Amino acid sequence: MRLFPIVALLATAPAFAAQPTATALQCGQLFDARSGKLLDARTVVIRDGRIGEVLAGRIAVPGTQAIDLSSHTCTPGWTDLHVHLGDQSSPKSYEEEFRLDNIDFAFRSVGYARKTLLAGFTSVRDLGGDVAPHLRDAINQGLVDGPRIWAAGKSIATTGGHADPSNGYNATLSHLIGPPGPTEGVINSIDEARQAVRQRYKEGSDVIKITATAGVLSYAKSGDAPQFTVDEVRAIVDTARDYGYTVAAHAHGTEGIKRAVLGGVTTIEHGTYMTDEVMALMKQKGTWYVPTIHAGRFVADKAKVDGYFPDVVRPKAARIGALIQDTAARAYKSGVKIAFGTDMGVGPHGDNAREFIYMVEAGIPAATALQSATIRAAEVLGVDDQGVIEAGKRADIIAMPGNPLTDIRAVTAVDFVMKDGMIYRQPGDARP
Ligand SMILES: [Zn+2]
Repeated sequence: MRLFPIVALLATAPAFAAQPTATALQCGQLFDARSGKLLDARTVVIRDGRIGEVLAGRIAVPGTQAIDLSSHTCTPGWTDLHVHLGDQSSPKSYEEEFRLDNIDFAFRSVGYARKTLLAGFTSVRDLGGDVAPHLRDAINQGLVDGPRIWAAGKSIATTGGHADPSNGYNATLSHLIGPPGPTEGVINSIDEARQAVRQRYKEGSDVIKITATAGVLSYAKSGDAPQFTVDEVRAIVDTARDYGYTVAAHAHGTEGIKRAVLGGVTTIEHGTYMTDEVMALMKQKGTWYVPTIHAGRFVADKAKVDGYFPDVVRPKAARIGALIQDTAARAYKSGVKIAFGTDMGVGPHGDNAREFIYMVEAGIPAATALQSATIRAAEVLGVDDQGVIEAGKRADIIAMPGNPLTDIRAVTAVDFVMKDGMIYRQPGDARP
């Protein structure tokens, strides 16, 4: 078996990345996520996938390969806390659910993962979808290029609620399949709530996602009705804690957001109809808000296009989507903790950084927006080895020409991407 180590080495090498050596990134400027300040020139030395030293100035470090980023701003790799790498919306989405297999979605996800990584997102939380736990494993094994993934697996819903997988099926099909239960992520009691979380554990999830209210894209009339009792949410949160999981709650309507917060979830996703009262409650309980302005704007835009959405979805997309950017503005003013997420998969994967621009438009300072995708996102994930460029942390570093603090549009021009010390993209590479 002399060949085995070589085969193993090839099998674990990222498909497109350069091999790790000691590297010195000579950054023109560096975003310090801890202080929110832009530092002048720094040289970041990378060894064995970790940050070795951060040195003042642009200097040559013996024994390292230098990379000239002198016209660039370096920042910690970004984290998008709300993506769905298993799919991407299109006018065909609703019929494809009937015609395609999970294998088809899995192949598509390979491209989505690569686009996400090359846009500067070295970590994501995938909030719902059967593909993500498997994609995570393939990325960790070096078979596919993509971000580090925290995967929810199947979202937990209630009957007829957002993420009931049989919504919109005709009666014949519904009766043939039978009502989905906790195994499929649909619960209607406290016991089933516990079972659904334990099933996600069995399937290898890293985080739990619930759909605390109705949603825009589901084949159902309401976009905002509450869909869990507080006790059901509490049972999910308590059971999740047994496995070291946090809970992310999709929520648009006020009552459902309130129940999710009272039930102890970690993040509120979208949060469209958050009131002052709810925001005060979130501050008191330490609940995070993940705005996903990108998804709101995307669906509001597509609602204008005839035939893009089914008739039952279109008015919801127009009404709810258009509000999220204003909600984000109000939430920032209220002092609710904000972390970065796009709900990408609604919009096109790889366009994630546009969320920063939308956040700044909503009155959030550029530095705060960048922190929400770095040091704050790491807090949400519960990890302390990423989100800052400091000695000992994971070498997740990206860079872009220009200065995103003075012109936020620079975020869409990332052309250097390193994850765990591996370089996936360098200035001068053709845009994939
Ligand atoms: Zn989502």
